[in-house]
Amino acid sequence: MSFRTKTILRSVVLFLILLFPNIYACFVASDLSSLVKVMVYMAVVCIGMIIPMLFLRRRTYFIVCGMLWLFCAPIEMASLYLNHNPATATFVGLFYATNYHEVIGILSVAWPLLIGVMAVWIIYFVLASRQPNEWIIPRKTGIWSVGPCLSVLLAGSMLFFSSYAKKVNNIQDRKEAIALAKNLTLMKFYKIFPYNIYLNAFSVASDHYQARRTQEQLAPFRFGISSDNRFPEIYILVIGEAARSGNCSINGYERETNPRLARRTNLLSFPNMYSQAGTTEQSVPHMISRIPITRHKQCYLEKTLPEAFQEAGFQTVWLSNQSRILSFERILSTADIRYETGKDMSVTNNYDEYLLAPLQNAFKSGMKKQFIVVHTMGSHWRYDTRYPNSFEQYTPSLGKDFTWSMITPANRQQLLNAYDNTILYTDYFLDSLLTTVENQHIPALVLYTSDHGENLYDDERNLVLHGNYSASKWLFHVPFIVWYSDEYAQLYPNKIAQLHTHKDIRDNSSVIFHSLMDAAGLQYNNNTVSNAEMHTRSIFSNEYCMPDTLYVLTAEEECIALEE
Ligand SMILES: [Zn+2]
Repeated sequence: MSFRTKTILRSVVLFLILLFPNIYACFVASDLSSLVKVMVYMAVVCIGMIIPMLFLRRRTYFIVCGMLWLFCAPIEMASLYLNHNPATATFVGLFYATNYHEVIGILSVAWPLLIGVMAVWIIYFVLASRQPNEWIIPRKTGIWSVGPCLSVLLAGSMLFFSSYAKKVNNIQDRKEAIALAKNLTLMKFYKIFPYNIYLNAFSVASDHYQARRTQEQLAPFRFGISSDNRFPEIYILVIGEAARSGNCSINGYERETNPRLARRTNLLSFPNMYSQAGTTEQSVPHMISRIPITRHKQCYLEKTLPEAFQEAGFQTVWLSNQSRILSFERILSTADIRYETGKDMSVTNNYDEYLLAPLQNAFKSGMKKQFIVVHTMGSHWRYDTRYPNSFEQYTPSLGKDFTWSMITPANRQQLLNAYDNTILYTDYFLDSLLTTVENQHIPALVLYTSDHGENLYDDERNLVLHGNYSASKWLFHVPFIVWYSDEYAQLYPNKIAQLHTHKDIRDNSSVIFHSLMDAAGLQYNNNTVSNAEMHTRSIFSNEYCMPDTLYVLTAEEECIALEE
């Protein structure tokens, strides 16, 4: 075999090794479900590989690429293997978290892949070091060909995403559509190996840094809370996702989407409750803060509900099946027990029931005075991937051959069917969670509400999904459910009586902080102002006052009154 043939053969093998995670992604990644998507993905990957050829000679090129590509390949492979998805910030974040058990858990599941990858590393670097150190492509040819390639690629994705922005988000303004197209184009790089690893690692590291700085500033903050209770008790806040009050049969929806919760005793549904914002990032921090949305700029100036319970001697637990979000990264870091599934909204096998086993484990941890937050994926888009096939009750829904072009008003019925299946699944999840809590046989209270609602082509504006571009009353009207154990009812009959009298109030998520504090009988020490505020905003108190006006945060971070 001639020297030239050997060099070319070695190069082919080296390229195949470098591209292995990308090729594997083409077979397993749920995002790459069609041939067109695979071709676009591989085109971007290949262009990314050609660019360094302009600056590096053959041997150097393969060694540098090997270091950049191969050392983070195990993370990508583990993510593809476990989540059928390229590594996201949530997944990369697991490797940053202080809880090493999860990392070890992941590595122990993916060990056959890891051994394979390490063997490949050795083969790769031996082959790379034998390559001659010559230019791979003539420099002039390379420079002239990459320019047009990149332009076509960028222009193509901008065109695609701006048409998407117009159709899905109903954006008429050209500038706004182009801005969204630019963001969506950049976002794609967060899903392409190896860029996803570096970009996500950077964003996770910067989130951690910011969270740590805020934590240092907040360290001296005290609510001045105490609890006189010496008995075991559990309080749980379940944060739903994109659930609409109007699609719950427990609130009068014609489809029976809450068959299990409807049969429960000790359970109350509040049909006139609203969120304070339309995105997870804006809404969740206010759900666990005593700062209402009208003072949203001050939200991060004091500690949160789990920390208030912590101050009163409770163990705090945060269980999450959600995407990593900066606005509550600090809060997660303060929990005594923190568990994240590492699966985010782009993952297609992240059912909320995966949080039930960690919840059981938290109960077994020995500490029987607990405040627990369960942050679910609920009804977040893509609806059909939020529930197992056994919950496919309303059909036809979106199906496995789904493409983004299917999000149109013409397909409203399929969207609605899949959406209602998510509500039915949430009914099952909540019911299972309540059974788990009930079996503890101690005073316990669970409050479930959603971070915001969802648009489903409800009026002539044709709004769909949620987020900054689509404010409407469906975006803010959320389910709000309270369940209590028999033991709790025996302990606090007056609070339960008050809860029942407030069932039809029109209010929002700003009651959560004060109500859960009051439900647990917590008191501010020598602070009559704070105690008075707690009682006027607690649904468990006879001093509760319903507000005249409810406020919501708009896309422009402006507070406006919610229309009746
Ligand atoms: Zn959300």
